[in-house]
Amino acid sequence: MNVLGLDEPVGALAGVGPTKVRHLREDFGILTIRDLLEHYPRRYHDAGAITDVDATEVGRPATLVGAVVDWQRRRTNTRGGRRLDIATAIVEQPSGQRFVATFFNQPWRQRALPVGTTAAFSGKVERFRGDVQLAAPAVDVIDKVSLVGTPDNHQRLVPLYPSTDRLASHQLQAMIAHAVDVGALGEGEWLPADLRTTHRLLDWESAIRQLHQPETEDQHVAARDRLVFDELFSLQLGVQWRRAQHEADAVGRRNPPQDDGLAARLLDELPFSLTSAQQRALEELAGDLASGRPMHRLLQGDVGSGKTIVAAWSMLCAVDNGRQAAMMVPTEVLAEQHFATLQQVLAPLGVNVLDGIRVGLLTSSTSQAERRRVMGELLSGAMNIVIGTHALLQAGVRFADLGVVVVDEQHRFGVAQRVGLRQKATGSDSADVVPDVLVMTATPIPRSLAMTMYGDLDVSVLDELPEGRQPIVTQLITPDEAHRRAALYEFIRQQVDEDRRVYVVCPFIEPSEQLAGRSAVEEHRRLTEVLDGVCVALIHGQMRPSEKDDAMQAFRSGQAPVLVATTVIEVGVDVPEATVMVIEDAERFGISQLHQLRGRVGRGADKSYCVLFAGFSSELSDDARKRLEAVTTTLDGFALAEADLDLRGAGQLFGARQSGARDLKLTHWRRDVRSIERTRSLARSIIDADPALAAPDNTRLRSEVLRRFDGGLDAFEILDSG
Ligand code: ADP
Ligand code: MG
Repeated sequence: MNVLGLDEPVGALAGVGPTKVRHLREDFGILTIRDLLEHYPRRYHDAGAITDVDATEVGRPATLVGAVVDWQRRRTNTRGGRRLDIATAIVEQPSGQRFVATFFNQPWRQRALPVGTTAAFSGKVERFRGDVQLAAPAVDVIDKVSLVGTPDNHQRLVPLYPSTDRLASHQLQAMIAHAVDVGALGEGEWLPADLRTTHRLLDWESAIRQLHQPETEDQHVAARDRLVFDELFSLQLGVQWRRAQHEADAVGRRNPPQDDGLAARLLDELPFSLTSAQQRALEELAGDLASGRPMHRLLQGDVGSGKTIVAAWSMLCAVDNGRQAAMMVPTEVLAEQHFATLQQVLAPLGVNVLDGIRVGLLTSSTSQAERRRVMGELLSGAMNIVIGTHALLQAGVRFADLGVVVVDEQHRFGVAQRVGLRQKATGSDSADVVPDVLVMTATPIPRSLAMTMYGDLDVSVLDELPEGRQPIVTQLITPDEAHRRAALYEFIRQQVDEDRRVYVVCPFIEPSEQLAGRSAVEEHRRLTEVLDGVCVALIHGQMRPSEKDDAMQAFRSGQAPVLVATTVIEVGVDVPEATVMVIEDAERFGISQLHQLRGRVGRGADKSYCVLFAGFSSELSDDARKRLEAVTTTLDGFALAEADLDLRGAGQLFGARQSGARDLKLTHWRRDVRSIERTRSLARSIIDADPALAAPDNTRLRSEVLRRFDGGLDAFEILDSG
């Protein structure tokens, strides 16, 4: 038999013709034998655990395998008046015994499991009208592989692969089994033998074999351990290696806090005292700023935890050391707001007055004349701090001496944009001198994941809200409670009478024929009528900047206490008087978006409310319901991030743009915490000893990291949770 190298194309496998080659490429990006071998099973079906209908017990869980022979559908109403669509599959086992699998409001199941499909149904056994029934079972399609009746011809653990309509799991299984037989698996090993021994890891060849064809559960676990190690270790090595490269080239500069500097005075003048989390973050930042190495720190803090003041403080440290600072934010609304906030908190220190600190604003709607003035002052050094959107990245913007860069809501920026601002060369021609960088995000992610994804960033966490905040009351309203809308409007009126502010968020700007759902424009018109006598403002992304500005201004001042908006107000907007957030068609938003939107209220001392309307313009899917329930049950952004990960899977977080996405296929952010820590410290010790990864002993490690991250390691700079 011909042995095939791992980098040979899949078409070299017997039986894989041009059509299959195309499907493998289009559906999964699989080009080579190695790609095919790295198409890992999603899960296994334990054929040994299959139960016969006769052997089931009511009330106990069971897995029943059989072929769908018929479907029945009926509609009914629940006691609560909700419509219920019930789809029942009649399933026959080879013994001729039958059972039924019942699905609620999931009409698509019938399409997914057409008559003739063999599948495994797992769930709790019930009796319904004389039949054995599994209600809302988990389903694994086994396709045309007949498992039952011929146990000797089959593996006990049958791998189930991610599949598509034209590449079924059993077809992939056959191709992969073939590749395991003829592939040169020995080529895949990249870990030194002593490292494998120390960490009790299988060799690569055995791992691949056992992952695809495990004979026992233990074999599969050991295989998975080894391959998870590969994913994490190569990632951590790459990230640490890149960091070492940055540090080798970069000349940092010291921006240490001064005892009686502006930064210190800012804290003295604050009308509140810092939370201990803020205090801790300042100390960590102070350490970075005082050292000669460039700061590279991520500040993670839940919505409303007070990141802005930390940012302001670090920018003033630059000013205290005779340098400039820049802050980049994702939206104009936010840039305007930060500009205003900064002028306000700096007022006692003298800002934009003769002899005071000069702070400027630069967005794409800044007038030509103003832009020229700001750019001139930045270049001459007359301007100390600039706040702006990505307009800061345009070619003409140059600094006399940029000391500190802050990127707020960094998850909203692309990699190039973030790196771009850092690389804004300082006035001198020593392009290697880099500023201290602070990136901030209100999309908290679990620590284990942060360590993986931001391996090269130091992380500070604000895990505490300022004192005196009252928990936001969150309520979900579904169509069976439609009558509560009237009561809500009454409540909004009361809040407005007490000088509070109310947001109403809609998923769309204009009504659309394709997509059912409320639009901001319509809702604005409607609320203006319903809330007769109350001024309602409107803001959305297609308005002119000056119009957006006017709307925000009217809302902030209370002249228009109700603001109908799209998600333009999702991040960062801070109006402490706002106490009510109404979200229409909430099922259209993701968990983190809902949490961010809710974070626009509860920023002052008053009790605040978030009302989620859902299921009015489209049917609520199970997933949507779970998301909404998560948001109503907790206010903790970290807990919600975990719920989000569990619902979507960690792989999703990396997004399609991340070149390394395909390389974290097996890792589970919660289960593999120990591996994450282990590989991180191992990578660190290797890079500490050999920062350029150039030692002869490390040749194989180096080539593997380069192979895996040919898209560039910078892809790991950023988390895209959008
Ligand atoms: P975020 O972390 O979401 O960016 P902000 O920095 O906008 O939060 O702060 C939210 C609000 O809390 C602001 O109005 C800010 O002035 C206020 N704030 C910040 N720190 C404190 C504190 N230690 N005590 C009381 N209020 C604070
Ligand atoms: Mg903020």
